[in-house]
Amino acid sequence: MAGTVTFTMIKPDAVEANNIGPILAKINEGGFRIVAMKYMQLTKEQAGLFYEIHKERPFFGELVDYMSSGPIVAAVLSKENAVTDYRNLIGATDPTKAAEGTIRKLFAKSIAANAVHGSDSDENAANEANFFFSRLERF
Ligand code: UDP
Ligand code: MG
Repeated sequence: MAGTVTFTMIKPDAVEANNIGPILAKINEGGFRIVAMKYMQLTKEQAGLFYEIHKERPFFGELVDYMSSGPIVAAVLSKENAVTDYRNLIGATDPTKAAEGTIRKLFAKSIAANAVHGSDSDENAANEANFFFSRLERF
């Protein structure tokens, strides 16, 4: 059975562009409840740990630099079929390929600075939520 939780970050480009509010509105309009949230800046080490699964990919160094370059908003979202539905709401990694109306189509600047993160599996959603939030911080 598909899980009810996914994890997201509003990335530095979208925070810098003052799009926290519009993105949270899209998340709510998409039927998700925000069950944990924090506004923070990652160190390079923390960004590297979060994206450890990508450490062999050519863009890893740039990704870590970028994700630690400014504040982000991290959140845990709840909904039936959360992972799949949220991937559909955010759109393709490359915003030029993202469907109309998706968060990345609306707000992303480039394939790297693509406005939001969304978990790609229930297992990663659980790991990513646990990386950022203790049980005391989840509602
Ligand atoms: N990324 C990048 N260049 C690429 C592919 C990905 O800079 O060619 C960045 C981008 O910020 C992306 C993140 O690395 O969101 C993680 O990549 P992934 O393939 O997991 O994409 P996502 O799951 O975020 O759509
Ligand atoms: Mg991914």
